[in-house]
Amino acid sequence: MTVSALRHPLKPGLTFDADLDRCADAIRRLSPPAEQECPASPMVAELRRHGLLAAAVPATDGGLGLAHEPEDPLRLVRMLTRIGQANLSAGRLLEGHVNALKLVALHAEGEARRKLLSLARDGGLFGVWGAEGRHPVRLRAAQDGRLELTGEKLFASGTDTVDVAIVTARDADNRTLLIALPTATLTGRLFPAEWSVSGMKATASGRCNLDGVRIAPSDLLGGPDTYFREPWFEGGVWRYAAVQLGGMYAITGHAADQLRARRQATAPLQAARLRQMVTACETAHLWVASAALATEAPAARPATARVAVLARLKVAEEAARLLQLADEAMGAASFALSHPAERVRRDLQLYLRQADPDGMGQRAMERILEDDEERRRWGIG
Ligand SMILES: Cc1cc2nc3c(=O)[nH]c(=O)nc-3n(C[C@H](O)[C@H](O)[C@H](O)COP(=O)(O)OP(=O)(O)OC[C@H]3O[C@@H](n4cnc5c(N)ncnc54)[C@H](O)[C@@H]3O)c2cc1C
Repeated sequence: MTVSALRHPLKPGLTFDADLDRCADAIRRLSPPAEQECPASPMVAELRRHGLLAAAVPATDGGLGLAHEPEDPLRLVRMLTRIGQANLSAGRLLEGHVNALKLVALHAEGEARRKLLSLARDGGLFGVWGAEGRHPVRLRAAQDGRLELTGEKLFASGTDTVDVAIVTARDADNRTLLIALPTATLTGRLFPAEWSVSGMKATASGRCNLDGVRIAPSDLLGGPDTYFREPWFEGGVWRYAAVQLGGMYAITGHAADQLRARRQATAPLQAARLRQMVTACETAHLWVASAALATEAPAARPATARVAVLARLKVAEEAARLLQLADEAMGAASFALSHPAERVRRDLQLYLRQADPDGMGQRAMERILEDDEERRRWGIG
């Protein structure tokens, strides 16, 4: 039975966990160590088949409400981490879907909302395409009274799998708007093959050209700059840290397997490395869980976003250290293309590169220092 079949689950926790485990196992089986990547579509099919895409839909609309203010935020942590552990590209696509469904839950209204949620309930994959390149996306009034987009998106995860993209565009007053675009209307505008990178290949995070795309006012979600409302904007960064944590668990598991196979797990320095890797995972997990509980609470205030930012930065630090320890522990063997850790290492190294880490950290600390309540929260007041 899939999560999507459980509109009124008797034991939602138990059933959800079982579906999640089966889905993660299926995705792991699709991800053998190999030079050749498994494309995303079979993995997305598993997310769909096990009801994980539909689970993001609000509970009042027939889902499990995981994307926005879930009853149990740790369930969302588990979902992102387990799928990230099975395959970081699948985790990235699932995270983008959750992000998009949160924006729909927060900002979409009326018929547009009904249509988008119905699509998601039926297993449609959503994504959020915000990153700009040299030609940022702009929105302007067209001569026929409709609205027209110009420019292009880069890093558009799922250019070959996403059904609905939520894209950002600046208007003439430099305000950011959100637009829901079914990818069926973007034929010839998506370039998955341009994603030529060493890791996260299956995400096909290529380019999307929006020059001349006409939209109706009903395609807009929310008002100007609502996208940046906290604690949902920067506050959402804990979600990709949860997926990255999955990659940390995967690498640690492969290191443990190799050390045991070589009978080195009890060699003092190797055992110390393994312990440091396990504690790095636990540190990351505690931060991610703390950020999820804080930012996904219905009463969360904008300042709560700070917990997510600090968590995201701490997870990146722990992951970088863990990658170093894993290389030392496993040695040259783990660089063989047939080694189970090889692709995970490449994927995690790239996935850790998320936008503006320095700026995020600096802004977070400035705000903590200038606010007495926040200073007390972090024990320095
Ligand atoms: C696998 C993958 C999938 C992705 N999918 C999506 C997606 O679906 N949708 C989407 O919108 N985005 C997506 N992204 C893009 C992501 O959100 C980031 O925008 C992107 O990864 C940029 O990373 P970067 O390291 O180049 O960041 P940058 O922000 O360019 O940071 C690089 C370095 O420069 C520093 N820096 C940044 N700005 C300044 C400045 N003004 N002055 C001085 N230093 C600065 C940073 O602190 C950092 O040290 C994806 C990224 C990856 C890796």
